Amino acid sequence: MNRTIIINNKNDYKSFLRKLFFYKYYHFTNFNIKNKIKSSNLIIISKALNIKNRRDRITYLYDQTVNYLNNYYKEDLCKFTDDKCFVQKQRNDNSKFGCCFDCKLVKSGKGCPTSNVSCKLLYCKPAIKNIKKLKIKDIEFLRCFSIFQRFILKFDFYSTREQMIKDLYFGPIYWFIRSIPKGLRLLFKIHN
Ligand code: SF4
Ligand code: SF4
Repeated sequence: MNRTIIINNKNDYKSFLRKLFFYKYYHFTNFNIKNKIKSSNLIIISKALNIKNRRDRITYLYDQTVNYLNNYYKEDLCKFTDDKCFVQKQRNDNSKFGCCFDCKLVKSGKGCPTSNVSCKLLYCKPAIKNIKKLKIKDIEFLRCFSIFQRFILKFDFYSTREQMIKDLYFGPIYWFIRSIPKGLRLLFKIHN
């Protein structure tokens, strides 16, 4: 079955975004979105809605989010040299690896081996002094994800791209249980 949605103006667009939650469950409908407003978000949303396999859709949206963040934060904001970000260099102490210091994935001299959306959304104030910090709500196509999935996107630090996609697929209970050892490790560190 085909369904054509016409978006003539910003009000139509807002109303369409509100209905996105329901459109996701139209498993047998092919969406044809005709829009008169310029929006790169809409191109992504329209493609995502026509991917009917849930895992494939999550993977597509995840990779689009990574691209979006990479394009937005074009320049090297943390300016790593000798395993220290510029904030650590200014502090001139023994700390290393910036915000990644506690992550098992970070390797000396090689940087981050994966694409983690949560980490890409987290910059300290000095790093984004001259740029508006992006939040989940600023990326409109993320409305294709549920509130719980957006929560995972925000807080799933220290995970690989593949693990994050798995967390988004299985949902918050799976993610919460998986995060318990990580939380305990951090708590143990704080009290020792
Ligand atoms: S966000 Fe700030 S503290 Fe974290 S690595 Fe970048 S410059 Fe360093
Ligand atoms: S996953 Fe996050 S914390 Fe770990 S190395 Fe990559 S950016 Fe750093």
